[in-house]
Amino acid sequence: MEPEFLFELRVCRWAERAWTPADPDDAVLVARQLGVRSRRWDTLILECDPDGLDARAVFGDERLDSDLLHVVRNAPGSYAYYRDALPDPGYGWRYVREAIHEAADRGLVETRRNGNRIELRRKYRYPDWVNRVVAVENKPDLSASAARALGDQLERDVALGLADEVWVATRATGDDVAPALYERLPVEAGILAVGDGVETAWNATALAVAEPGTRILDRPSGGEHDRSAARFEYVSPEWKADKRREIAERAYERGWRSFLDTMRPDCRSFEVRDPDTPLPYCTAKGRHVTAAECKGSCPEFAPEPPAWRSKGWPVDGGPGKALRRVLERQRARRR
Ligand code: SF4
Repeated sequence: MEPEFLFELRVCRWAERAWTPADPDDAVLVARQLGVRSRRWDTLILECDPDGLDARAVFGDERLDSDLLHVVRNAPGSYAYYRDALPDPGYGWRYVREAIHEAADRGLVETRRNGNRIELRRKYRYPDWVNRVVAVENKPDLSASAARALGDQLERDVALGLADEVWVATRATGDDVAPALYERLPVEAGILAVGDGVETAWNATALAVAEPGTRILDRPSGGEHDRSAARFEYVSPEWKADKRREIAERAYERGWRSFLDTMRPDCRSFEVRDPDTPLPYCTAKGRHVTAAECKGSCPEFAPEPPAWRSKGWPVDGGPGKALRRVLERQRARRR
């Protein structure tokens, strides 16, 4: 049976090619394994304003973390003392100063000294480039217990309303069991049945991302003698907007082919088979491999032969490096 990791890459590839954004003019950007706090989503689909995405590109490939976003989004059009220009961050100003220096080093804002004071002004306006965020949970083998655990998790996602939609991608089984399991998931969650193609088994409901959300901290087990109350807290729309921006920034930096960063494309046995769905394949093992197997401690790892490095290498790198460059180029093109 296909490991979850490969299933996840397949879903990412499908999303990149076939996801239909709510606004047909929007660009689609896919990333994997991103989230906030303890919640990490398997696949994230960002529906992006194409002009906004272009405007975002001038800030470079690296993500802007929350401190940098605070500086870049609030930097004034003409030079001003940073404490006058930026809203109170709610944390120490010294962290703001550090972020201003980092932003200046990265060419994102301009700074100058006026006596003891640091003044800044913006170079570019940070755009609102993400219109919608869609979270997909990949669960190829949806057993009864997996559906129960997933149902609980998705209810929390729905209550929080950080993503515009939440979906579950599961292997199409073609039997009668799946619909019964689907009923254990919240009705707001969409269901994708993944076989040779991908079918929508249930459509997702749009969540209220601009409204306050509810974070479920604890909930009763629901047993006969359980009289405990659920514990929850509210989160503001502003908090959600900030988190959505941070997630989008990480997705922008990372994309979904970043699995290569943790694998060994420089191993002589490493290949990417099926250019349509670039799944990592190991010729030594004779099958597709996961990131957990294909790493430095793999007993079958063998570096690329030196001869592979003769033509212009090692400056340009061997086939592993070349492969990485091709995939990086693809990722850049899609941006
Ligand atoms: S031999 Fe090991 S390190 Fe090399 S490609 Fe196969 S799994 Fe990866």
